[in-house]
Amino acid sequence: MARKLLPDIVSLTPSSYESFVRCHRLFLLGHLLGVPASDPIPTPDRGQLVHELLRFVHERGNCRDNAHVEEVLSAHGVADDVHRTMFRRHAERCPEVVDAGAHEKDIARFHRFPAPMFMANARIDAIWVHDGILDARDYKTGQRWHDRVADDPAAQVQAFVLAPHAQRRGLRLRIRYEYLAPEIDDDPDPFEPDDDDLEAIAARLHGAVHSMFSQESWRGCGEAQICRTCRYRSICADSAATGEPEWAALGLRQ
Ligand code: SF4
Ligand SMILES: [Zn+2]
Repeated sequence: MARKLLPDIVSLTPSSYESFVRCHRLFLLGHLLGVPASDPIPTPDRGQLVHELLRFVHERGNCRDNAHVEEVLSAHGVADDVHRTMFRRHAERCPEVVDAGAHEKDIARFHRFPAPMFMANARIDAIWVHDGILDARDYKTGQRWHDRVADDPAAQVQAFVLAPHAQRRGLRLRIRYEYLAPEIDDDPDPFEPDDDDLEAIAARLHGAVHSMFSQESWRGCGEAQICRTCRYRSICADSAATGEPEWAALGLRQ
């Protein structure tokens, strides 16, 4: 069954790999079958807007220029305390002097041998080159899940795609999460993978794709802590959490 569902070259993104690590059925439903969410999940709208505004602020000026930031927030109708706080928190974390920078960069890396083949892709929110470091930033507007960026499977895909670029330029790779929401106290420890870490990550990703091809039933994890925030919790036979389906919230209950 797995072979019929999986393409010859599996696509791995930070999100799809994170899903597979959390729960194989979640990966099946969301990333292979494209099943629409049956249950409400926290809206990503604020996150997408903040990402866009941060790119805009950096492309047209400096994030430490309060007048510039205020102008951008006002122009987009979000000159409120929450957004001001998020931009202030970002400016405290943003490197002051950089040699180069880029936003919303799509980076891919192909794995050919040994089989199975896969293509890893990641969209990186911001990349700064400074002080001999390729400093990749991931802007976060939701809750914090990990104490160390290294523990997040999503960061391992980011490290896998970024590593050749850092090595080619003779730079040290660092992945840092910026938690911008006022309710989060600290960022998790940044991840600076060494050669051994990168080798282990490559083996882990390859092992995950290998495991996808051997799936028969795509059993769900059935762990209440994971299921309670899952977007399929009311339609999944393995769910360990009760759900409130989207259609019920819309008043479509029969
Ligand atoms: S409800 Fe639980 S078992 Fe089912 S897909 Fe979601 S995380 Fe997996
Ligand atoms: Zn900045």
